[in-house]
Amino acid sequence: MRKKTRLIHGGKTNDPSTGALSPPIYQASTFKQNGVGNFTYEYARTGNPTRAALESLIADVEKGDQGFAFASGMAAITAVMDLFAAGDHIIITDDVYGGTYRLMTQVLEQRNISVSFVDTSNKEELAQTIRTETKAVFIETPTNPLLKVTDLKKVAAIAKEHDLLLIVDNTFSTPYWQNPLALGADIVIHSATKYLGGHSDLLAGLVVTNNEKLGEGIHFIQNATGGVLAPHDSWLLIRGIRTLGIRMEEIEHNTKEIAHYLDQHPQVGHVYYPGLQNHPDRGVHEQQSAGYGGMISFTVESEAKALDVLQKVVYFTLAESLGAVESLISLPAPMTHASIPRDRRLSLGIEDGLIRLSVGLEDVEDLREDLAQALT
Ligand SMILES: *Cc1c(COP(=O)(O)O)cnc(C)c1O
Repeated sequence: MRKKTRLIHGGKTNDPSTGALSPPIYQASTFKQNGVGNFTYEYARTGNPTRAALESLIADVEKGDQGFAFASGMAAITAVMDLFAAGDHIIITDDVYGGTYRLMTQVLEQRNISVSFVDTSNKEELAQTIRTETKAVFIETPTNPLLKVTDLKKVAAIAKEHDLLLIVDNTFSTPYWQNPLALGADIVIHSATKYLGGHSDLLAGLVVTNNEKLGEGIHFIQNATGGVLAPHDSWLLIRGIRTLGIRMEEIEHNTKEIAHYLDQHPQVGHVYYPGLQNHPDRGVHEQQSAGYGGMISFTVESEAKALDVLQKVVYFTLAESLGAVESLISLPAPMTHASIPRDRRLSLGIEDGLIRLSVGLEDVEDLREDLAQALT
């Protein structure tokens, strides 16, 4: 089965009792048992048929065996982190999503799980950070907002050698472009709030693994801690995933054009986009991903200029989040990365005049003209 076909025909989402192509929304918390211990579903925290349909679909789409749906991306990441215990050490990509940074530094460290943030695109730096207590490496590639790329196959080899789990947050690339399990990862996580849902109407998180024992562990935690996705949201997310392929193809087309436009614009400094010739890890990205995604970051001369652009754009909406049908614009320094001290932010490369775009599905000519008028 090819990629777009799998999005439509993957998993077990039809309803065998009626033939409905769209799975019913089983708005049910509990299920009649035929006898003690004789049932398919017992209680909806443990399992609900609509959620199960989604979980089977994402498992197929990510080329794994077991999928798990959570109430948000952060609930999914928290459930995976619940696999670890006091004393464990985890290595994480240095410019991870802000919510992940907050979870690691303010929640996990209180439970005596220590974390090291390293530039995982630098294999030597990564290898040097491994200690006897290290249990896992947590990667985002490409990263937010600087689109740094980590070589997943190389990191998978290092992880295997040291008996570490490789966990990949695949939100930015989506399973349409990149399948980390096929490259050696053990667990894939998504904020399905973004591209998988795709319509700015849903908060959800997904976890996929191809390791039976890890799957058992994640299901145990999902049921024990209870951050599950509701039936109606599970149904909406299945609907979103069906069109992921066509959305990502069109977003890819629009994003390439915008990146090249910005790259030659006199008011623009640096453009961060893995599809540009000047991206240092373009080759690595192309080995592991079939597309470049819909995110672009670029610099203008100052924060004042960046704020001016934000004021003038018409089709780019000032909002957090990404991956939806509408194009979004944000300023990492005063918004998503405001909690990071300015010195550390600058040393990471997040300048005051850095602007981040999530390119949507509008006509690309309108998007380009909008940026043109906002930049002058
Ligand atoms: C948004 C996001 C998250 C968190 O997901 P929520 O659904 O907002 O809880 C995690 N990782 C990445 C890369 C994200 O963009």
